[in-house]
Amino acid sequence: MLDIETTPHEGYFWDLFNQNIAISQIKEPTTTLCWAAKWLGSKKMVFRDWSDKDFISLIYTMVDTADAIVHYNGKSFDMKHLNREFLLAKLDPPSQYMNIDLLSTMRKNFKFASNKLEWTSIQMGYEGKVQNRGMQLWLDCMAGDKSAWREMKKYNIQDVRLLEDMYDALLPWIKNHPNWGLYVDKDKNRVCTNCGSTNVKLNGVERTKVRTYQRYKCLRCGTPLRGRTQLHKTPEGVLT
Ligand SMILES: [Zn+2]
Repeated sequence: MLDIETTPHEGYFWDLFNQNIAISQIKEPTTTLCWAAKWLGSKKMVFRDWSDKDFISLIYTMVDTADAIVHYNGKSFDMKHLNREFLLAKLDPPSQYMNIDLLSTMRKNFKFASNKLEWTSIQMGYEGKVQNRGMQLWLDCMAGDKSAWREMKKYNIQDVRLLEDMYDALLPWIKNHPNWGLYVDKDKNRVCTNCGSTNVKLNGVERTKVRTYQRYKCLRCGTPLRGRTQLHKTPEGVLT
């Protein structure tokens, strides 16, 4: 579970509305300010900010070790920002991991008034994001203000806690979740792809255009599942 905070670009601009800002007007480009992360199932939250000289190498190690990373819009935001930091730090690309982007899960499956985490999390009955004072908080942190940093840390960590709540709630809706079945050694029991439970019941059959499969359902997380092999050979009489 991962969430990062970044600094805004700093720059020079002549006017407020409809500006096209040239690269020559950039004073300081965006950079990673801090991150919060935790392993699924672990209680330990890790938080680091840019005052720590290892803050990029530590998150690199976590990303490099992960099978999958859960984030909210991380595919186009968090992971790309981090990749830039890795490149600039002359680190190799991290090992392959799967992205579990809960924003994509929201967009693909549901129609909420807004897909922003601060909206969807409250709609789903969670605490919501920590309210912050907006840009001034970022500016104060960039200036090294200690109390601002306490607020930022709280905000960043709360986002990761929310992420975990949302992950639990959205679990059966996540398509292409890393398959828990592959993490269970020599076990003949049927394993839920999304949560690893073997509490799986038969749930009718699923028919594609020409094949028939056994259908299952996970009784722990509710993920609809399907066997991999055909129930019986497609009869000659089935045309396509
Ligand atoms: Zn399950």
